[in-house]
Amino acid sequence: MLQTIKMPVVSECAIAECAYNSNKSCHAIAITIGDGNRPMCDTFFKSSRHGELNSIAGVGACKVFICRHNNNLECSMESIRVGSEQDHGKCMTFVAA
Ligand code: SF4
Ligand code: SF4
Repeated sequence: MLQTIKMPVVSECAIAECAYNSNKSCHAIAITIGDGNRPMCDTFFKSSRHGELNSIAGVGACKVFICRHNNNLECSMESIRVGSEQDHGKCMTFVAA
């Protein structure tokens, strides 16, 4: 039987250059983490145009199956933090399994 899934929350994001960032929060409805096995934010979109914060993003999917918190290609945490690596968003909650 299918269940309603509660998404992990993106508690903060340090990537001010991303179009989805507003005051260190992400306002995409849901983001995808994972550039192959690297825990990068796949929804990152560099732009000088920024939307407004209407809601806090959730982690809709995570492709990083080598993370300890990954369960069936979904994140099992209550929340994650996104930081910066080489000017790209990276899941700082990632722990190698
Ligand atoms: S880098 Fe990812 S988590 Fe951060 S604001 Fe952009 S889409 Fe959201
Ligand atoms: S904590 Fe792990 S499973 Fe969750 S989003 Fe980050 S890399 Fe993916």
